[in-house]
Amino acid sequence: MIPVNDALPSGLYIVATPIGNLSDLSGRAADVLRRADVIAVEDSRVTATLLRHIGAKVPMVRYDDHVGDQVRPQLLARMANEVVALVSDAGTPLISDPGYKLVREARERGMMVTTIPGPCAAVAALTLAGLPTNRFLFEGFLPSKAKARDDVIAELSTIRATLVFYESGPRLVAALEALAAGLGNREAAVAREISKRFEECQTGSLTSLAAHYAAHPAKGEIVLVVAPPDAESLRPAGADLDAMLRAALVDHPLAKAVRLVARESGIDKAELTSLAEAIRQQL
Ligand code: SAM
Repeated sequence: MIPVNDALPSGLYIVATPIGNLSDLSGRAADVLRRADVIAVEDSRVTATLLRHIGAKVPMVRYDDHVGDQVRPQLLARMANEVVALVSDAGTPLISDPGYKLVREARERGMMVTTIPGPCAAVAALTLAGLPTNRFLFEGFLPSKAKARDDVIAELSTIRATLVFYESGPRLVAALEALAAGLGNREAAVAREISKRFEECQTGSLTSLAAHYAAHPAKGEIVLVVAPPDAESLRPAGADLDAMLRAALVDHPLAKAVRLVARESGIDKAELTSLAEAIRQQL
C-alpha cells in the first residue's frame, strides 16, 4: 500500500472511479489522480468532470480498444519513471473495460503495478439483488445477435453459480426473455442506475421482470443478476445417475465415489449413498 503523504513511486495505478455518485470516489483514488503525471482515460470529457470535482488538472491520454495498441508503448515507457493512472469512464478499469493488456505488459517489464479499489457495478448489483453471493459468474455483456446470445446462455445453463450480466435499457426485455427460455424461469434482479438519483432494484422471476419492463421500458444503466439453477433442474436422469455411480465405484471406494458424484450432480450424499450401496451389491 502507498502511504498518502509520501511521493508516489513510478508505475501503473489502476484507479476505480464512481459509477454514478461522484462522492463515491475514495480519498486515496482522488489523491493518486491529483498526483499522477498522466491519466489514461476512455473518454477525456467524462474524466474531466471527475477531475474538476476534485480540483485536479492532469494531462490525459486516450486509452481504449481502438487506440490501445498505438498508445500502450508510450504509457509503458512513461511508467518507468512517472506515475501513470488508468481509469475508465465509470467503475473499476478492466471490468468490461480496457486495461488488461496494459497491466500484463507492465508486469512483463517489471513495472510497479497497484490498484486503488472502489466501485464496480457488478459487485454493487450483487449486494442489492438478495441472491446467493457465495459463488457468482460475471459474464459482462451478452452478444447482441440472438443466435450468439442464445449459444452463450446455453453454455451458462448448467453453471451452479449466480450469473451477473451488464445490460442496457433497449436490450433488457429481449435479454430477460432469452434467459428465461434458456435457463428456465429463475429468480433474478434488475439493478438500475446504482448510486444515482433513480436507483432501483426490481426482483422477481425472469418472465415477471420481462413483463414488467415490457410495460415500463427501463432507462439508464443496468446490471442483471440471475439466481443459480436449483439442484432439481440439473438432476441427471435416473439411468445417467446410475451410470455415473457405477463408473465411480469401479475406481473408488464407496464414500469417495459418492463424494465425486455428489460434486458433479449436486445430489445429496445420503441419497447417493443408498443408491451406491444397492449398485455395489450387484457388482
Ligand atoms: N468497469 C465498470 C464497472 O466496474 O462496473 C463497468 C463498465 S461497462 C462498460 C458499463 C456497464 O456497467 C453499463 O452498461 C451497465 O451495465 C453497468 N453499469 C455501470 N454503471 C452502472 C450503474 N450506476 N448502475 C447499474 N449498472 C451500471
